[in-house]
Amino acid sequence: MASVRVAVRVRPLSQREKDLSAKVIIQVDGHKTSVLNMKDNFHCMSGESCGESVKSFPYDFSYDSMDSTSPSFVTQEKIFTDLGTDVLQAAFEGYNACVFAYGQTGSGKSYTMMGNPVDDPIKILGRRTGRLQCVNEASILAACPFLWAFYFEIYNERVRDLLPSTETQGCELRVREHPKDGPYVEALSRHHVQSYTEVGQLMQEGNRRRATASTGMNHVSSRSHAIFTIHFIKAMFDADLPSETVSKVHLVDLAGSERANATQATGIRLKEGANINKSLVTLGIVISALADLSVGGGLKKKQNFVPYRDSVLTWLLKDSLGGNSKTIMIATISPADVNYSETLNTLRYASRAKNILNKPTVNEDSSV
Ligand code: ADP
Ligand code: MG
Repeated sequence: MASVRVAVRVRPLSQREKDLSAKVIIQVDGHKTSVLNMKDNFHCMSGESCGESVKSFPYDFSYDSMDSTSPSFVTQEKIFTDLGTDVLQAAFEGYNACVFAYGQTGSGKSYTMMGNPVDDPIKILGRRTGRLQCVNEASILAACPFLWAFYFEIYNERVRDLLPSTETQGCELRVREHPKDGPYVEALSRHHVQSYTEVGQLMQEGNRRRATASTGMNHVSSRSHAIFTIHFIKAMFDADLPSETVSKVHLVDLAGSERANATQATGIRLKEGANINKSLVTLGIVISALADLSVGGGLKKKQNFVPYRDSVLTWLLKDSLGGNSKTIMIATISPADVNYSETLNTLRYASRAKNILNKPTVNEDSSV
């Protein structure tokens, strides 16, 4: 059993927040992230108790990326090394792995998952480890997996290929369930990759396709979930018989979490909002159900139904939540007081995710 590991990262104040004269209300201290409620603080200054004004949450990692001149500043590189290396290592060892980025729009999900799209794509996969180099050396096949990359988006509970072939271009893809391998996207195009550069290029190509839809459709990209998947296929000999290990790594850039709370949407927006809600809200319900199961030491298993199939996102990522996967959630937040309630929601959500227990096991298939 292994817990979902949870990291929180706070970005610098944005220009917009500075223009609004926003105050920084986040503090990072070791593993803890604290948020100050400015309203409470105001009362507190007038002599009332300050007890409730600071809320602190411990996580596996708390990353302060607010001010690059501060000694506690955590760089992109450090995050990639902490989290990305583990993900790669897990995949090389035959485990499934998954990294979720959760947070309100503009809090830094894409930046943390993919780096600055112009300068440094795909860093989360730990470019520095150099491990992908071995794919080119056929002589050490056992250590060197064959890699397939996939990239798709879930928008309004519909799946769209972000790296389409001529057959999947413009199509809505279906989600099916394989009796042994579990849920998958039918006809999703796969791409053989041999280097980090190629992975980065595919990710950029998919991101461009995601962004293009946004201009016509009012910020689709902040309302859709983007899932980049790599399959590591490792050939080996087990007691002289050829066998194969397939491990899947998912990098999930979730829709803005404010969608999960939106109440003012109307008309088409409501339908869209409701569906986007469906995946994010279901993710929340799944996380709560799994966290309860874990707290009960598994005793409550029968009472807790985990509604994976209620949304496309949770169905497809079933294995990553309470299943066979090493999973990391990165919650990204703004440091500004103007985002207080969204930030508090994100911190609470991330806190709950910490209680999920997964059961990662090495994937093996000797039937090849
Ligand atoms: P999201 O994907 O959550 O909507 P983005 O990753 O697009 O948010 O980030 C919003 C803006 O903030 C972008 O301009 C991005 O470059 C900037 N940003 C986000 N996180 C950081 C960070 N840690 N350091 C510097 N800039 C950041
Ligand atoms: Mg984004």
